[in-house]
Amino acid sequence: MTEIKIELTKNPKEKPSEDSLGFGHYFTDHMFIMDYTEGKGWHDPRIVPYQPITLEPSSMVFHYGQTVFEGLKAYRTADGEVQLFRPDANFKRLNHSNERLVIPAVDEELALEALKKLVDIDRDWVPSAPGTSLYIRPFIIATEPFLGVHPSRNYLFMIIMSPSGSYYKGGIDPVKIMVEERFVRAVVGGTGEAKTGGNYASSLIGQVIAEEQGYAQTLWLDGKENRYIEEVGSMNIFFKINGTVITPALTGSILPGITRDSMIKVLKSKNIPVEERRITIEEVVEASQNGTLEEVFGTGTAAVISPVGELKYLDHKIIINDGKIGEVSQMLYDTLTGIQYGKLEDPFGWIVRV
Ligand SMILES: *Cc1c(COP(=O)(O)O)cnc(C)c1O
Repeated sequence: MTEIKIELTKNPKEKPSEDSLGFGHYFTDHMFIMDYTEGKGWHDPRIVPYQPITLEPSSMVFHYGQTVFEGLKAYRTADGEVQLFRPDANFKRLNHSNERLVIPAVDEELALEALKKLVDIDRDWVPSAPGTSLYIRPFIIATEPFLGVHPSRNYLFMIIMSPSGSYYKGGIDPVKIMVEERFVRAVVGGTGEAKTGGNYASSLIGQVIAEEQGYAQTLWLDGKENRYIEEVGSMNIFFKINGTVITPALTGSILPGITRDSMIKVLKSKNIPVEERRITIEEVVEASQNGTLEEVFGTGTAAVISPVGELKYLDHKIIINDGKIGEVSQMLYDTLTGIQYGKLEDPFGWIVRV
């Protein structure tokens, strides 16, 4: 395998206090970087001190958005060890996103090796206060200095890391979510399935509209008929109706969340009925009206589980489980975080120790 060069920092930064971390504000001492040049392929993988990068203003990423990213975490266990959760799944998904954005694939084994080395070097940056973690952001950008429209001939693959605070400082608080009626996030055949910046750029407007009306996030419907439920901002969504947990099937416009996949596997292991299928917003409204809508929750790496306490759609204001977290949501949260922080055994083989 290609050798990863390492240059350690001579000026380690002072670490921020663990109770004021928030999300995405601070970055560790080191980062991983690797170049792609047409004809040469991916080359010069290296770990260097965290630092600014220099790019031409004409770099293609600034103009046409050819970029992909990933998000995962390193967790500190009670006995001081550091572990990753399904990192192989993240690099596999990165390459799926690459395919859609015509970015050359990265060697998944090399990427995992690099990540483990990087986390090991910055191991002291993995916080240990309850609920905290080290957020990891791998990403690729198109760097060719050219204003014509074609796939870039050069790229940068980087991994940066940011200690992040507990998502639920004052306990798990259900969120209020608004169904967006006018704008859509993605369509089948588009880039909804890929983790790419443009999906976020085009969904910011939904976030702004929701916040204006006092809601935390947007629930997106399908781009064709505007009735099938897709996902929330940066989370997949689940509904528990009459004892069965339902999540929208991956039809091509939904981001295939690793937390989503993990939840489905945990539910199956506990013999709780779970279905991946198309589900309309009308079905959810109807279930709330006939009293069978029991729980709604979002899933994603950042929050693991985000219970939905209120759902607004047109004139309907649906209150779910009295605005409190449901039993299955709580069980899933406890199970997944238990495995991630090493408090529970990992029967699925998801944990990678660093
Ligand atoms: C990353 C992401 C998710 C959640 O994926 P996880 O792998 O569970 O973190 C869901 N939706 C969108 C749009 C995303 O970008």
